[in-house]
Amino acid sequence: MNCRHCGQALISPFLDLGHAPPSNAYLTQDSLKKPELTFPLRLLVCDACHLVQTEDYADSADLFTEDYAYFSSFSTSWLEHAQAYVEQMVSRFNLTQQSCVVEIAANDGYLLQYVNQKNIPCYGVEPTKSTAAAAKAKGLEIVEDFFGIELAKKLVSQNKQADLIAANNVLAHVPFINDFVSGFTALLKPQGVATFEFPHLLNMVQLNQFDTVYHEHFSYLSFTTVKTIFEYNGLSVFDVEELPTHGGSL
Ligand SMILES: [Zn+2]
Repeated sequence: MNCRHCGQALISPFLDLGHAPPSNAYLTQDSLKKPELTFPLRLLVCDACHLVQTEDYADSADLFTEDYAYFSSFSTSWLEHAQAYVEQMVSRFNLTQQSCVVEIAANDGYLLQYVNQKNIPCYGVEPTKSTAAAAKAKGLEIVEDFFGIELAKKLVSQNKQADLIAANNVLAHVPFINDFVSGFTALLKPQGVATFEFPHLLNMVQLNQFDTVYHEHFSYLSFTTVKTIFEYNGLSVFDVEELPTHGGSL
């Protein structure tokens, strides 16, 4: 297997957790009597760009099923975090009713609902049908698709360029990280800003957070590697913040 970012052959092991079934794929009463499908769960680190990544990933279409069960709005502390984020972004970047805010992996609209309340135009991108339906029920516009350069170009052709793109806990979950990040470069207006929130690799190592390793989590991200990946794909980094969410995030 080659590095998802730089293409170098991956030879250095990082962590081996044996085999595990896909997370969030809950079993039914009937399926308890059947064999359960598992996949190898091993992490490798790239010797060139130091991206830590899962080996032998299952196809993302197998992992994100239509009954995907994670709804962000079930966590009230996460909702408070999302509301505080929106307040901060609106004042820092002077977002108005002429702006456009986009959230990638909008889930059930837990964050965009606060943008909508301020009458700032917004839409979300969300491939999971069940969460997208919950977001639409909140009156939000949702593009039901996986995000990448192809979708970004299509959105630009529809005049849907963004002043702000939020991407919370999605960067680590994309198998094709260059395609994903270059989509932000394409979709942003020239002075547009994107924010990414992701669990910090340093905390995983220092605090032995082995339970953050699962198949939907393709990359384990350090600031150094993220900066390299962003710059390679046309984004420049101008600020970083440490957050307590998800066991310690950037
Ligand atoms: Zn690499």
